[in-house]
Amino acid sequence: MRTHKIAAIGADGIGPEVIRAGLTVLEALAARDGGFRMEVESFPWSSDYYLAHGHYIPEGGLERLKQFDAIFFGAVGSQQVPDHVSLWGLRLPIAQGFDQYANVRPARVLPGVKSPLQNGAGIDWVIIRENSEGEYAGNGGRAHRGLPIEVGTEVAVFTRAGVERIHRFAFELAMKRPRRQLTLVTKSNAQRFGMVMWDEIFYEVAKDYPALKTDRELVDAVTTRMVLKPQTLDVIVATNLHADILSDLAAALSGSLGIAPTANLNPERQFPSMFEPIHGSAFDITGKGIANPVATFWTASMMLEHLGEADAAARLMRAIEAVTASGLHTPDLGGTATTEDVTRAVCEHIRQH
Ligand code: NAD
Ligand code: MN
Repeated sequence: MRTHKIAAIGADGIGPEVIRAGLTVLEALAARDGGFRMEVESFPWSSDYYLAHGHYIPEGGLERLKQFDAIFFGAVGSQQVPDHVSLWGLRLPIAQGFDQYANVRPARVLPGVKSPLQNGAGIDWVIIRENSEGEYAGNGGRAHRGLPIEVGTEVAVFTRAGVERIHRFAFELAMKRPRRQLTLVTKSNAQRFGMVMWDEIFYEVAKDYPALKTDRELVDAVTTRMVLKPQTLDVIVATNLHADILSDLAAALSGSLGIAPTANLNPERQFPSMFEPIHGSAFDITGKGIANPVATFWTASMMLEHLGEADAAARLMRAIEAVTASGLHTPDLGGTATTEDVTRAVCEHIRQH
């Protein structure tokens, strides 16, 4: 029997609700498969925990997380804590501390889900986000606070090693897709240094992948292409900030933020990788039992894939698609189903197929 050790961190808002649903589905899969089991430990780190203890991650917390095969993460962000404090308190220390530099964000219109685009069926993308440096390197400062001469800087940092490894990761992933197409997204007209370096390193790496079709777009221009000609894109590689924005757009174009998954990968597997829905805490629907768990289920499928459970990962995707196709939708997709309804239906499909 294969055992996978999972650290579950639901954290804030709807995070614990969707992680609970995700763990239920993972249990059903393990029972159906019979070849593996999940050993789950839940961590209470959240904004409430921060308000009570003064920190999100206690001393030695990252060392404890290191013992796990994967981290299953909900969402962090609270109305009681400034967003930059919660993000830098919990999610970024894990992603950066474990060098999860490749953030993989697939987007596709699931069966039965309506895209706001007429040609939404053309959406079948993977956005690769550089997840360790760039605009979120944490490099900046403020001087002369409150005075008329106040200055704030937010300096993006790009390193050759950091850029080259994300490009290589993107090329490798694109090679595994049927269309073998990779689009480089930067802003190297207005930004002349780090962005031009991104472009140059991309074309250096491209020499090693002659079978792959490449093209490039500026980040503003690619938004129009995503909306008007979605079928012309396949894999996209972009910086931390740019891909963050593009993937929320991709989620909305594929039907809802409530279905979009993401994997924060440490491809060398020196450290655990982290799997999470891309949405946040969703204060407006917290506690109502109507959060869409599909993003978390799809995320769980990516986690299973990473853990070497390809059969269970595929079974879960089939169950998700059967349930979305059946029209059992939460309110974000125009339906009236609850988180629990969708979870039960996915578990039932897993048991029977
Ligand atoms: P959000 O994703 O929480 O919500 C945006 C909108 O999408 C809301 O109307 C919400 O109800 C809806 N939505 C999101 N997930 C849904 C789901 N599963 N089912 C149905 N509807 C869903 O984004 P926001 O409002 O910008 O941020 C709220 C908080 O979450 C902030 O504190 C923010 O910092 C945090 N946040 C955290 C993460 C993360 O942990 N990775 C990501 C984004 C935002
Ligand atoms: Mn985001």
